[in-house]
Amino acid sequence: MRLIIIGPPGAGKGTQAAKIVEKYSIPHISTGDMLRENIKNSTELGIEAQGYMDKGVLVPDHLVIKIVQERITRDDCANGFLLDGFPRTVAQAVSLDAELDKLGIKLDNVINIDVDKDLLVNRAISRRVCNKCGATYNIISNPPKEDNICDNDGEPLYQRSDDTEETVSTRIQVYLDQTSPLIDYYKAQGLLSDIDGTKDITDVTEQIFKALDN
Ligand code: ADP
Ligand code: ADP
Repeated sequence: MRLIIIGPPGAGKGTQAAKIVEKYSIPHISTGDMLRENIKNSTELGIEAQGYMDKGVLVPDHLVIKIVQERITRDDCANGFLLDGFPRTVAQAVSLDAELDKLGIKLDNVINIDVDKDLLVNRAISRRVCNKCGATYNIISNPPKEDNICDNDGEPLYQRSDDTEETVSTRIQVYLDQTSPLIDYYKAQGLLSDIDGTKDITDVTEQIFKALDN
């Protein structure tokens, strides 16, 4: 299974990605998570990316393309992978197609999670994340068992610095301008599965599994 999950910020990509990679035993490749890890470790890439991420705008294509090219050639991707948050521009998609061609492999499906704009801001500002295992919660729709503590490992949860109302609004606009053209790009390749992301988490998972099983 070689999959992409796309959707605006707060649509539920990370939440659904966790369920998909468990079912299909493939690695979850999130460029947002990889960039945040680089920021945490103060790498050259992290230092360069942070200014863009804090503003809610995209990190330049060449930086992100490089890390994904390296990541998908690792051994654990031999049976597939799920890309979450990449590609985010047509230029990234074109470069991914070229890379996959070079490797002699093809995508199986592009899962497009559709959610109305007015739901997204509330979802993102009430998102909480585990620093250790990356699990995602929501203080309203998907709370942990114990306030602010990860169910998996007991670590405290944190709020992403870019999950403020202002930055999320910028990120939604960036999605509409730069990422949403990918919907037509992948539709033209016959790969797109449209998913109604406004439903509750288990319903969305069911829609995705149904689309992938077809
Ligand atoms: P993305 O990766 O697309 O930015 P996340 O998976 O992190 O989105 O989800 C954003 C927030 O919304 C999280 O707090 C998550 O718990 C919550 N969430 C995800 N899916 C749903 C859903 N179907 N209904 C309500 N809340 C959801
Ligand atoms: P969300 O889950 O809300 O969609 P991500 O964690 O995927 O957010 O991304 C957070 C930020 O990381 C983005 O606002 C952007 O600055 C940067 N980023 C992540 N993936 C990419 C990418 N493929 N291209 C450019 N910037 C990216």
